[in-house]
Amino acid sequence: MIAGNWKMYTDIFESVNLVKAVSAGLRGDEEADVLVAPPFTNLSVVKPFAENARILLGAQNMHWEGSGAFTGEVSGSMLRAAGCTHVILGHSERRHIFGESDADVNRKVEAAAKSGLIPILCIGETLEEREAGRTFEVIAGQLAGSLAAYTAERDLPAETIVAYEPVWAIGTGRTATPAQAQEVHRSIRRWLGERFGEKISEHTRILYGGSVKPDNISALMSEQDIDGALVGGASLKAESFLGIVQFRKKG
Ligand code: PEP
Repeated sequence: MIAGNWKMYTDIFESVNLVKAVSAGLRGDEEADVLVAPPFTNLSVVKPFAENARILLGAQNMHWEGSGAFTGEVSGSMLRAAGCTHVILGHSERRHIFGESDADVNRKVEAAAKSGLIPILCIGETLEEREAGRTFEVIAGQLAGSLAAYTAERDLPAETIVAYEPVWAIGTGRTATPAQAQEVHRSIRRWLGERFGEKISEHTRILYGGSVKPDNISALMSEQDIDGALVGGASLKAESFLGIVQFRKKG
């Protein structure tokens, strides 16, 4: 899967132009599933264009309650009604700017699954944590906390996607090398296997995110445990997003 996170960019008109340009550039023989995640206000206008081009629609966040007096929040059932199939949860900008904890993310994962949305769970270490040699510990802690409701007995919601996004690589132009990303993806798959068993660990898509561009996607996608990418900046121009979507594996 190649997923575009449009963040707080594009108004309704720009979103429509962008989804139209992406659909026009798709050839139909792409290996990857393609998903776009526009801002809330633009979801339902993007939906018909996305659907025609078999582009999946995702939201960037949601609240864990179904409805209620939560000014400014949006629920999973509202996102379903707007046409979403997926929702990005626990993005590092949510965690670091808005103070979301693993416990919050866990409630959101459960609520998303109840609403019939596929969660795209984001995890990733900061530069400080990496330099202190704590990457694997941090990743395992975020997985355990964000998926606390799920144990071997209570299996992960079907098709849950994990996105590994090292915080130091997001929007910085600094990408993890394919080997660095693969090492962490392997550890995520191992963690999933220990917790949920081989079948789930093999079938879970693990996306990489952090300054993915047309010129580094092929090397990343050639790694065994990298099943796709979550793309921020480069998803805002049809040309660069299509250059990523239409990657060719190396070798
Ligand atoms: C992101 O926001 O999920 C992301 C990976 O951003 P960028 O591609 O701009 O680093």
